[in-house]
Amino acid sequence: MQLSADKVKSKLMARVEEISGEKVLGCYQCGKCSAGCPMAEVMEYLPHRLLRLLQLGDEEAALASRIIWLCAACHTCASRCPRSVDLSRIMEALRMVLLREGNRFVDPASLPHKLLDEVPQQALVGGFRKYS
Ligand code: SF4
Ligand code: SF4
Repeated sequence: MQLSADKVKSKLMARVEEISGEKVLGCYQCGKCSAGCPMAEVMEYLPHRLLRLLQLGDEEAALASRIIWLCAACHTCASRCPRSVDLSRIMEALRMVLLREGNRFVDPASLPHKLLDEVPQQALVGGFRKYS
């Protein structure tokens, strides 16, 4: 039996590719994206490992990752990738999968009033669009 890309795709990988328009299996794990990521220091593992989890079909670990919420969507990774994989779009697709299923990274109702008073409205709206 010959393996084709379609046969090794997990349900989550197919959904992420549909939402993001990116090819998860295009990544060959060179790590150039992670080397330039400004948020890598605060992530629990380097960004290219998330792609590996998706490639291996570890859906639970990929969806449980905090790095998809910590990604600043700066697109540095996309500009460095020799395979033209836009990791930021894949991160966004994973957030969308979770948000569409009713998951929230931040519940707006849980934020303290003091913070709501002090943070600029644009930052709040941008944050709520990403996290809730
Ligand atoms: S730079 Fe591209 S090919 Fe290299 S690990 Fe990152 S996503 Fe994969
Ligand atoms: S878009 Fe996200 S993963 Fe890519 S370099 Fe920026 S912070 Fe890192």
